[in-house]
Amino acid sequence: MNKVHNFSAGPCILPQEVLQEASMAATNFDNLGLSILEISHRSKSFVAVMTEAQNLVREMLTIPDDYDVLFLQGGASLGFLISAYTMKEEGKSAQYLDTGSWSKKAIKEAKLIQKVNVLASSSDSNYSYIPKDYEIPVDGSYLHFTSNNTIFGTQYKTFPKSEIPLVADMSSDIFSRKLNVSDFELIYAGAQKNLGPAGSTIYIVKKETLEKISAGTPSMLNLQIQAAKESMFNTPPVFSIYVAMLNLRYMLKNGGLSHYETLAKTRADMIYGEIDRNELFEGTCAIEDRSNMNTTFFLKDESYKERFDSLLTDAKISGLNGHRSVGGYRASMYNALPIESVEIVIDCMKKIENY
Ligand SMILES: *Cc1c(COP(=O)(O)O)cnc(C)c1O
Repeated sequence: MNKVHNFSAGPCILPQEVLQEASMAATNFDNLGLSILEISHRSKSFVAVMTEAQNLVREMLTIPDDYDVLFLQGGASLGFLISAYTMKEEGKSAQYLDTGSWSKKAIKEAKLIQKVNVLASSSDSNYSYIPKDYEIPVDGSYLHFTSNNTIFGTQYKTFPKSEIPLVADMSSDIFSRKLNVSDFELIYAGAQKNLGPAGSTIYIVKKETLEKISAGTPSMLNLQIQAAKESMFNTPPVFSIYVAMLNLRYMLKNGGLSHYETLAKTRADMIYGEIDRNELFEGTCAIEDRSNMNTTFFLKDESYKERFDSLLTDAKISGLNGHRSVGGYRASMYNALPIESVEIVIDCMKKIENY
């Protein structure tokens, strides 16, 4: 049925099986004769969804028991502020790595409530690389970074080694790579890049960290309160969490994290291989920092653009246009994207050579 190849940067492609199951729940959920959209979030049926979603996140990422998993609202954009409130320490300054638009926004929010030091930035070359030459001050409160730069197409291949607590916005590469959760005090990620529909945001936070949150923190931004209320301080976005839960089930059934990590590498190798082989194209980022999730590239000769774009349209490729701040093309290849879709893009790249 769905012949469109969806390379959207977010909200992203979801498995057909998940969408079908979700659409059934929209009319009759859990055989209640009611839609999931019209039942109480306190009902037994929905509480079971929330619990399972949290447990599946734990299973997928092998999260230790001394961490809480929360599903909140506001997207990663509110996460910029929530993470700052969670990690802030009187008299210390927060350390940030600036690797693109999302980092910049995180820095802006963090500055509203504390002193911030931008340790390193790649803004000097339109964020085409990940800065590696910096020293982390041991008296900083925490180090914040963006693991994958959705817009510019760079990704940390190894995470910063830090003596101060580590905080990461993993919105666009969570569930696509193995990681050691205990290296972090806080991880947050908007759901709509690699997990489910927009509307929910995951927080993975060390329980010890919650105890340090200042009592003056507004309730909705206070992870200690949110954790004590089991992600139900206010009405949660039930449908978003339900679809995320279905997708987590699907991903675990299909091989879990190792499978999706391998798949991400395979897809990335395929497309970067073609970008590097094909004389007409060029990648925008430093090779060692290239993202496995969002691959950014451009046509060296713009006069091919019209023809290439029409090849893409004919092949039913959707969402391949680059972000306005980079231009060119961006193939976002999140977990549900089949290899076949990547083959079709590569096919178009080869066809334009003979034009
Ligand atoms: C999309 C994105 C965001 C913003 O997410 P919202 O849920 O729209 O607030 C933040 N950080 C990264 C890395 C993203 O890819």
